Amino acid sequence: MLARFSRTKSLRCSFCGKPAARVSQLMGGPKSYICNECVGVCNKILEATPCTFTGWGDMSETQLLDALKVSEASVEATRSVLQAQIDELRARRVSWQKIGEALGVSRQAAWERFS
Ligand SMILES: [Zn+2]
Repeated sequence: MLARFSRTKSLRCSFCGKPAARVSQLMGGPKSYICNECVGVCNKILEATPCTFTGWGDMSETQLLDALKVSEASVEATRSVLQAQIDELRARRVSWQKIGEALGVSRQAAWERFS
């Protein structure tokens, strides 16, 4: 069951990382929150994706092209969640070495990708 939160300062969207104060609505589930904007992105993905997905090969060129923008938006939203987590870890002075280890990459690779 989802709970709704309105402008609670300490909460953030788990998908885009925006704080509750910067979105009009934030809904919470177990250990995660989603803002109204990310719900909108999800709805667009659902609208653009056929309900009976049987593979990209079964989609028309138009369907694939229509789905590109929303797929990119979902990738960007996910990327911003990752960056927000990294930013929080860095704010807590967690080393690039530890972040790299958690991601399975070198300290240098983690630093180059997220700093
Ligand atoms: Zn969001």
